[in-house]
Amino acid sequence: MLKSHNCGELRASHVGSEVSLAGWVHRRRDHGGLIFVDLRDHDGLVQVVLNPQEAKDAYEVAETVRGEYVLRIIGSVQKRPAGTENAALPTGEIEVHATSAEVLNPAKTPPFYITEETDVEELLRLKYRYLDLRRETMHQNMVVRHRVVKFIRDFLCDRGFTEIETPLLTAPTPEGARDYLVPSRVHAGHFYALPQSPQQFKQLLMVAGFERYFQIARCLRDEDLRADRQPEHTQLDLEMSFISDEEDIFKLTEELYHSLATTVFPHYRIQQHPFPRMTYEESIRRFGSDKPDLRYGLELSDFSDAVRESEFQVFRNTVASGGVVRGLCVPGGAAMSRKQVDGLTTFVQQYGAKGLVSMQFAGEGTIQTLAAEDIRSPVAKFFTVAQVQEMAGIAGAGRGDMLLIVADRPAAANRALDGLRRELASRLELADAGVLAFAFVTQYPLLEWSDTEGRWMSVHHPFTSPFLEDLDKIDSDPGAVRSHAYDLVCNGWELFSGSVRIHRRDVQEKVFASLGISQEEAQRKFGHMLEAFEYGAPPHAGIGAGIDRLLAVLTGQPDIREVIAFPKTKSASEPLTGAPTTVTQQQLDDLHLAVTEVEAEPS
Ligand code: ASP
Repeated sequence: MLKSHNCGELRASHVGSEVSLAGWVHRRRDHGGLIFVDLRDHDGLVQVVLNPQEAKDAYEVAETVRGEYVLRIIGSVQKRPAGTENAALPTGEIEVHATSAEVLNPAKTPPFYITEETDVEELLRLKYRYLDLRRETMHQNMVVRHRVVKFIRDFLCDRGFTEIETPLLTAPTPEGARDYLVPSRVHAGHFYALPQSPQQFKQLLMVAGFERYFQIARCLRDEDLRADRQPEHTQLDLEMSFISDEEDIFKLTEELYHSLATTVFPHYRIQQHPFPRMTYEESIRRFGSDKPDLRYGLELSDFSDAVRESEFQVFRNTVASGGVVRGLCVPGGAAMSRKQVDGLTTFVQQYGAKGLVSMQFAGEGTIQTLAAEDIRSPVAKFFTVAQVQEMAGIAGAGRGDMLLIVADRPAAANRALDGLRRELASRLELADAGVLAFAFVTQYPLLEWSDTEGRWMSVHHPFTSPFLEDLDKIDSDPGAVRSHAYDLVCNGWELFSGSVRIHRRDVQEKVFASLGISQEEAQRKFGHMLEAFEYGAPPHAGIGAGIDRLLAVLTGQPDIREVIAFPKTKSASEPLTGAPTTVTQQQLDDLHLAVTEVEAEPS
């Protein structure tokens, strides 16, 4: 090796040793007569001193180097002169006095600072990702990622799990996204799908008797990208046989996530352990979302009954036509200016809400003594004081607080209020960045109606087990059938989804039918699953857990791209390699394809 030690590992105990180091010039300082080079490698930084009196040739080499040159240094470790130690640096007590310096490779001036965490345009960062990954935060994110994945592997191996790979070129498996397709050269007009998840294979591995399986699996989904979505993401995919119900999954995963967080990220406080549980219905009712951030309150209230008889037409009409009037109390919100409140109205409109009604409670005393002039609201005149008091009572609001209210169809109101709740928490700095608030969300509905598809769709996926006692409602009231699907959420992110699976052919056929899948289609697409269930399929359950999301939460990054070495842009392209690219006519011919339209340059 060109190096005897890593730069970052040298300490006072090495004083007197001869070392050979190799790395990048992090900074070079010329002190007229002495040159200092901070040499950086994967492990950290060390200060190298080049003194023309001690080593003239090495000094002359150092005169020529600039940031990011690759250097090899041979020298001796010495204590820094008293008063020049750097307590902020692990190697800050020592320095290396070079006897030899060799440039292994020069470097052009990088397009952005490696040494400083300045804001750099995303496209540039991705085009030069190999330089971006040299920057300290990104470099650390990758190291932490490795440690997290290793922790998970060790944890599961210790508990008898077997890691098994499943195919990338396969048949479609539905997870609610569009498939990435790969044309077959050998079979004209036929396509493989890249897996949206290894769902079917892992269930077949249960039928194959593996009882405890996991895989760190790549999942590919062609969908609109957001901060928590990439075309390809990494999952901890896990499945267990002979579970009695979801409790067995909760027990294992609670221990996994708790021990992972406390071991690899000990600086966090876990808000509640054992992790709290709430049903899907409760989560939507209290937070408007099935991935609530539980680090702060701002719970939602329902005012529909209180305003049913009010003079305010918008509220009356909404309730009369089956909608809801819901909102939340902002503690201290009476102090917000008209302009700030207007800003929140514009904010909820992004979520499709038609408007936001505010009510601020001024003056002293309790809500019971509220007078008409204490109610500051653009719609105050439509409400009696008693109606306002009732609304304040429902939301637990007092003087000095503010109600923010949305009237809409239930799903739309919840969507807007969930967004508003997150926005308020961020503006009011309510979420403690040092806390992890895990929770299990349970009992998802099996099916939901899709207006765009015009049919019932799986909330999780079609292999999820319904509550068997609800099965008799599957034809008459499909939306009322509960399922054994669950999520783990943390700080407003979904960390995993999973479910107890169907393991009986008759139940699976019933669920396919409820999704509008004909027997013939079920046989064609999923016949292998139906058949496998007839060869002694054990009861089983599992999860698919986002590794990228977990890392983003634990490292406090706002976007999963910060924890992925080579991510795609928001429009699913890769500036570094230029993917996706066009292909030659010959390649198209080989694949029996004709292209009808070519975009100029994907960005
Ligand atoms: N296959 C599911 C997903 O990718 C997870 C699971 O049910 O295990 O969301």
